[in-house]
Amino acid sequence: MRNAQPAQIPTSFGHELRACLRCRLVKTYDQFRESGCENCPFFNLHDDNERISDCTTPNFNGIISMMDPSRSWAGRWLRIGKFVPGVYTLAVSEALSEDLQNLCEDERVQYVPPKRA
Ligand SMILES: [Zn+2]
Repeated sequence: MRNAQPAQIPTSFGHELRACLRCRLVKTYDQFRESGCENCPFFNLHDDNERISDCTTPNFNGIISMMDPSRSWAGRWLRIGKFVPGVYTLAVSEALSEDLQNLCEDERVQYVPPKRA
């Protein structure tokens, strides 16, 4: 999937912000519920509260806005060069469940689990 459409930008920066466990895109809970994750449509987050809590986390450190991930050194460093422009976090501490990791494998998308602290 390659499109230049940017991801939604978080409409608030309060406690309802969540980060996708796979691509680290940061949006509000409501934004994930309304339109899912732009980089991970196969998660089917739309209107699925349980999936949202499985695939996203409120626990992350630091956010960076990435308007041109493919040409940014930070994008390459974060390995998000192929992701849509948007707001990303530098690190999430949780890993996807095994089921969801299998889903990524089925979809042939890369998933890089966080390093153990
Ligand atoms: Zn995602």
